[in-house]
Amino acid sequence: MNNRKVRVRFAPSPTGPLHIGGLRTALFNYLFAKNNRGDFILRIEDTDQKRLVPGAEEYIVESLNWCGMTPDEGPGFGGDCGPYRQSERREIYKQYAGMLLDSGNAYLAFDTPEEIEHLRKESESKGEVFSYGINTRNELNNSLRLSPAETEEKISRGDSYVIRFRMPENEDITEEDIIRGKVTFNTTKSLDDKVLFKSDGMPTYHLANVVDDHLMEITHVIRGEEWLSSLPLHILLYRAFGWEGTRPQFAHLPLILKPHGKGKLSKRDGEKMGFPVFPLEWKDPETGEFYHGYREDGYFPEAVINLLALLGWNPGTEQEFFSLDELTQLFSLDRVVKSGSRFDPDKARWFNKHYFQKKTAEELAVLFNPILEEKGIRQTDGKAEKVIAEIKERCEFVSDLWEHSSYFFVAPDSYDLRTIKKHWKEDTSGKLSEIAGLLSGLEKWEAEAVKQQFSDFINARQWSFGSVMSPLRLCLVGENKGPDIFRICELLGKEETIRRIRKGIETIILT
Ligand code: GLU
Repeated sequence: MNNRKVRVRFAPSPTGPLHIGGLRTALFNYLFAKNNRGDFILRIEDTDQKRLVPGAEEYIVESLNWCGMTPDEGPGFGGDCGPYRQSERREIYKQYAGMLLDSGNAYLAFDTPEEIEHLRKESESKGEVFSYGINTRNELNNSLRLSPAETEEKISRGDSYVIRFRMPENEDITEEDIIRGKVTFNTTKSLDDKVLFKSDGMPTYHLANVVDDHLMEITHVIRGEEWLSSLPLHILLYRAFGWEGTRPQFAHLPLILKPHGKGKLSKRDGEKMGFPVFPLEWKDPETGEFYHGYREDGYFPEAVINLLALLGWNPGTEQEFFSLDELTQLFSLDRVVKSGSRFDPDKARWFNKHYFQKKTAEELAVLFNPILEEKGIRQTDGKAEKVIAEIKERCEFVSDLWEHSSYFFVAPDSYDLRTIKKHWKEDTSGKLSEIAGLLSGLEKWEAEAVKQQFSDFINARQWSFGSVMSPLRLCLVGENKGPDIFRICELLGKEETIRRIRKGIETIILT
């Protein structure tokens, strides 16, 4: 067992978009695999045909790609253990269900859904809970009670049936979960005879999951806490198949909790509280409901990964920022905690700001250019890069760039009234006209040089700086904001600067 190559799988069901909790499960699997030089496998668990949602599988793959977690094996990724879509493996499951029937670990149950429903209601009326299992199976319509001849007859008549697992009586199943430590379940107290194979010819999750983990040589099952209750059945299935010697180790990840109060973060919380809980945006093909995504809301995948990594895992140091590579180096399941982690949307913004600031102006320009183009602004002389370098520290998202830089590309068509009232005096127009005159005579159009000439000019006239700086800014920007005014002049260029000053003088006098 110890010298087997580490192989883990991320096994989502394509029943809708991948929730941020599912993405965290994928991330922890990916990190564990890469930390151990192992394989990260994507397996699509689509045996519940009624719950399939069109587009969900593509969504899952796109989300993994966006985060840079490319599977080593999976549908569309190749690998020797395929097919990796469970709906394409029906024959395999049928064969394995047959093996359990042969060994007496499973049986055929002919009870119709209506009969089961009736039994359920009957128990309910007595204040009890019906369970198909140790205490009831011998009175029900199955191959344990019927004679072999009766069973045969039903099969040949074409009666529909399911295959159920025969749960052993009153046994304590104990397992050492990597995260939770020792967990024990009593078969009689907490387990019923679960359906392994359905009448529609499809396996249930339990059978398909265990058979595939075995055939795909999975060494570690890392999944959400909600699957902990399935663990004893899975362990018993490994035993029934005689695969105990090679069965995987289990690690059940802690829940992700709502930002405030108790309870699991749900897919509706995001829309209610105003932050995405999905990596990519999603429009439900049936209901038309729309859900925001981190990608479309302008987050970088680095920020989402960093945020998710710290939901349940900690490095044991003060370090907070981690790249995917660093996480791969550091990750271990020993540092994953048992208790739930609160989701903090403010932290997501904070991480995004960090990664935004780390990007170079050139990298950001690549993302900003499409926004400019949409506004009809084409710029080829690298102006976007230079503008971004001036204003980037004021931004958290690429979408903030325009708000802080529009005046570099489009002249203001209105001027902030408060600034006018405060800074535009009787003599302002005259002073600015003189300044426009000075600027038009300048040869060297570069921030430092302009500043020098400007200062000399103002000092020579004994004007206060304050009396011209804000009006000048008002003409160039439209309001009293922005970076160093001489950098703005440089980036606007000489002609545009003078043009804006003149337009300001004309317009603001008229106001
Ligand atoms: N198909 C299950 C899911 O949707 C997989 C659970 C597991 O990893 O065993 O999460």
